[in-house]
Amino acid sequence: MTESIVLVTGGNRGIGLECCRQLAARGAKVMMGARDVERGERARRSLGDLAASVRVEQLATDDPASIAACSQRLTRDPARLDVLINNAAIYDSADAPATSLPLPVLIRTFATNVHGPLLLTQALLPLLRASSRGRIINLSSGMGQLSGMGTGSAAYRLSKTTLNGFTATLAAELAPDHIAVNSVCPGWVKTDMGGAGASREVAQGADTPVWLAIEAAQELTGRFWRDRAEIPW
Ligand code: NAP
Repeated sequence: MTESIVLVTGGNRGIGLECCRQLAARGAKVMMGARDVERGERARRSLGDLAASVRVEQLATDDPASIAACSQRLTRDPARLDVLINNAAIYDSADAPATSLPLPVLIRTFATNVHGPLLLTQALLPLLRASSRGRIINLSSGMGQLSGMGTGSAAYRLSKTTLNGFTATLAAELAPDHIAVNSVCPGWVKTDMGGAGASREVAQGADTPVWLAIEAAQELTGRFWRDRAEIPW
């Protein structure tokens, strides 16, 4: 089998960077999406020998022009994509409970966490269809689980619930193309977003998305995962 070609959004730090590292270590050709190319190049160099398997792509997922330009570059080269990992997201410092959530916070959270994955997926579908093993992995969160909804940070929660809905509907739509679409909760991970007090190392957070990207059975689709096990929506 030829090497997997994988695009990771928000690949310059946190779980995204660790996904790039683990994927490159497993022999994948990695497109590291970074909204700031300089930050992306620094992150790429931090991977040492694995940097040779990684290419930085300017990609701001809340900017439709950046998405279009990136997809045009990828259409020219490498002209195929096996896996898209929609990882980039924000947790806005002004997030609030639903009872007092300012609309602008909801709008900017959705721009990155929901509209970005939707627009990017649409733009890259021809490249995913050019693969015989297309996969889309959406980095979600237990905070978006309808089965265990908690309080606070309503913009972030709603963005992840909506992302999960996107996963489910896209999985159904792309079943005829044999493109697998899944959501992952990485757990509470020590990153800039998760904070130093989080319970998990970044390697654990990246494990399930990387497994879904290259090792999991192609037939697994339309599901929500944590620690390589299915969890309720
Ligand atoms: P992080 O440390 O805050 O890193 C976020 C990454 O997303 C950065 O590379 C950032 O780029 C990028 N990004 C943000 N907005 C972007 C935009 N508009 N365009 C392009 N890139 C953008 O977050 P993380 O903890 O690694 O989280 C990764 C994913 O896991 C997210 O989807 C998050 O919701 C999910 N998650 C995390 C946790 C946790 O405990 N950490 C728990 C559950 C779910 P810049 O460097 O340019 O800002």
